[in-house]
Amino acid sequence: MLIGSATALDGMQRFYAELAAGGDPLDVAVDVCKVQEADPEDQSVGLGGLPNEDGVVQLDAACMYGPTHKSGAVACIENILHPSEVAKLVMKRTDHCLLVGKGAYEFARAHGFPHVELLTEASRKAWLEWKENLSKEDDWLAARDGHRTANLGPVRSIVADSDASPTPWKRPTGTIHVSALSSRGEIACCTTTSGLAFKIPGRVGDSPIIGAGLYCDQECGSAGATGRGEASILANGSFAIVELLRQGATPLDAGREALRRVVRQAQRLSKWQPELVRADGRPSFNLQFYVLDLAGRFAGVSLEGGKFAVADPERGARHEELALLEA
Ligand code: ASP
Repeated sequence: MLIGSATALDGMQRFYAELAAGGDPLDVAVDVCKVQEADPEDQSVGLGGLPNEDGVVQLDAACMYGPTHKSGAVACIENILHPSEVAKLVMKRTDHCLLVGKGAYEFARAHGFPHVELLTEASRKAWLEWKENLSKEDDWLAARDGHRTANLGPVRSIVADSDASPTPWKRPTGTIHVSALSSRGEIACCTTTSGLAFKIPGRVGDSPIIGAGLYCDQECGSAGATGRGEASILANGSFAIVELLRQGATPLDAGREALRRVVRQAQRLSKWQPELVRADGRPSFNLQFYVLDLAGRFAGVSLEGGKFAVADPERGARHEELALLEA
């Protein structure tokens, strides 16, 4: 079976049959992710991903395979369409776990990946709009004719937020995660993203960090994260969930316990960064975890709600509601 972020639904619909027919769970997880990486309309990943503050698309991806307990990842990779596939090659064709930046790009080129311009016109315009509205103290002037250059809801909300008070963590995020369990009981997972929109160049989120953006263990199950990467890194969320599964927790309880830790950690950190917590004490950011155990039990949990994607033999691929922290 497959579980992952809501954005994984299209890929699950295309590739679930391959898993059901005995396909390798790692190959299927990566294939599902590649559907979104190649989709220019998905501005959270791969082609068309929102760029960093210099207008350059930098991608992060990782995968992990239970039967060998090996992972592979790339971070800050530029001009490569399928970082998830490169992560799989790091896993299979190197003795390493993570390649970054230029080294990751050159490794991909050595394996025959073409150089691709990933910045689409829509994402360039969104970036330009963000840049022009960033400050009244610089020389970049926003369009004055009332005609937006970009047709992007998330960017408008950033602009609106930043007019009141700068809240950088409100910037659009998005990612695809997939965990897969084969009928032979093999577990694997993959996470891929363009990361936080307009991030500081070189910023790496949780997605390529094993234990944060994803983790699996053939003895207990798999987990992955989307949302505010810094919170996922600080909680080591995916690793924590898999350890809770090892201790006997259900996927739902394990996911919720990880979220509770994230909330407490945000409350502590809010002494330095008050913007991280709202007046009611809840985090001002969103974070989701997707959890799958070896029995095929699963859960999607979230600070703010929404949907996740799942595919199983009984009901095929579909969206389900993410569980909130409270029952
Ligand atoms: N977790 C990703 C990151 O922080 C972004 C996201 O999932 O929205 O890079």
